[in-house]
Amino acid sequence: MSTSTPEELLAFDREHLWHPYTSMTTPTPVRLVDDADGARLRVDGSWVVDGMSSWWAAVHGYRHPVLDRAVADQAARFSHVMFGGLTHEPAVALGRRLVEITPEGLDRVFLADSGSVSVEVAMKMALQYQRGRGRPGRSRFLTVLGGYHGDTFDCMSVTDPDGGMHAMWKGLLPEQVFAPQPPAQSAAPEDVAAWAAAFRAVASEHAPELAAIIVEPLLQGAGGMHPYPAACLRVFREVADEHGLLLVFDEIATGFGRTGHLFVSELVTPDVLCLGKALTGGYLSMAAVLTTDEVARGISASESGVVMHGPTFMGNPLACAVASASIDLLLASDWQSRVTRINSRLTDGLAPLRAVPGVRDVRTIGAVGVVQLDHPVDVVAATDAAVASGAWLRPFRDLVYAMPPYVISDAELDLLVGGITEAV
Ligand SMILES: *Cc1c(COP(=O)(O)O)cnc(C)c1O
Repeated sequence: MSTSTPEELLAFDREHLWHPYTSMTTPTPVRLVDDADGARLRVDGSWVVDGMSSWWAAVHGYRHPVLDRAVADQAARFSHVMFGGLTHEPAVALGRRLVEITPEGLDRVFLADSGSVSVEVAMKMALQYQRGRGRPGRSRFLTVLGGYHGDTFDCMSVTDPDGGMHAMWKGLLPEQVFAPQPPAQSAAPEDVAAWAAAFRAVASEHAPELAAIIVEPLLQGAGGMHPYPAACLRVFREVADEHGLLLVFDEIATGFGRTGHLFVSELVTPDVLCLGKALTGGYLSMAAVLTTDEVARGISASESGVVMHGPTFMGNPLACAVASASIDLLLASDWQSRVTRINSRLTDGLAPLRAVPGVRDVRTIGAVGVVQLDHPVDVVAATDAAVASGAWLRPFRDLVYAMPPYVISDAELDLLVGGITEAV
């Protein structure tokens, strides 16, 4: 155990460790976590309710005995072996579960080491697929405004141009094709129809150069916490089929029940599905790309005949073991009623904020609650206010939002609503 005092830890951190999207030279404050249990974190010595699930991941909360044991048992055997030329029971067991629980047809599994890498792999697969089908000119991707697909370069290229700072990277990022953002989930049918017509027009204009459509289905996450109508998913599918494009669903954030569906892909089946974040219950970094047999065959017909990707930690046994345990735990739980309960408590608890000056919108979907302001959030002040009232939140842009672990209790949900209210 460390013998450093909290002050020493924070002082070293401030001088030497980069944090996400944070300046090294003028960093905003970080807080010290020294314990975590269930839906709570001990932050700077006080227990607070976690509203973030460590960014969509820790659906079972922290220090879950079943998940702890899965990691420990696998570590007692072997923690990692290369996946080139070798396989192991944890990878096979996870692959089998993923094939079983995802929609029919998605049964070829690539185990990647993070969400961004899985999106890279999915995009590479789409390009290789088109080459294998004799269409090498199809090298661009169609997506919608407002998306987020990760932080590596290809992922950034399909992320919203503003959110992804495309202006700053001009000339360095592949230039993809952007269609309008789908309307809000409550949109009238004629608004959905107008969006669909616009989407179809962009697709038709660019079809000969497009390899695939890539989107976050039903809920755009880090790009703006924007839920949209399921009718749009059918438009994606129709347009993809009409023009010979693959449909890639990035369910890294939405997968494993967060929207109320185990996978949004149950509504409309894509050709390629990316999963991550909650895949391991938030224990270890791992993601998966699932494809159809048709995609696998197309890739095999390309020049190389193989997927040109093979991360060092592909199929990491510790991550596979905890992912299988997390999936079993989820499916054995009453996750649907938990998500429904979280939804109704967030919906009721946040509704009064609509009347607060400066609040533009309040929306929920599944186990996600969002308050959108009409101005950028003062992140430091909002975080201080939330922590002081017993909740851990990480607002961004104009959004104060929460997607708590599914194990959160009603009393903890009330604390969380109080924290969001204070932050707002
Ligand atoms: C978080 C996220 C990613 C990136 O995953 P990392 O594991 O952070 O690389 C990609 N797509 C979506 C939709 C995400 O929410």
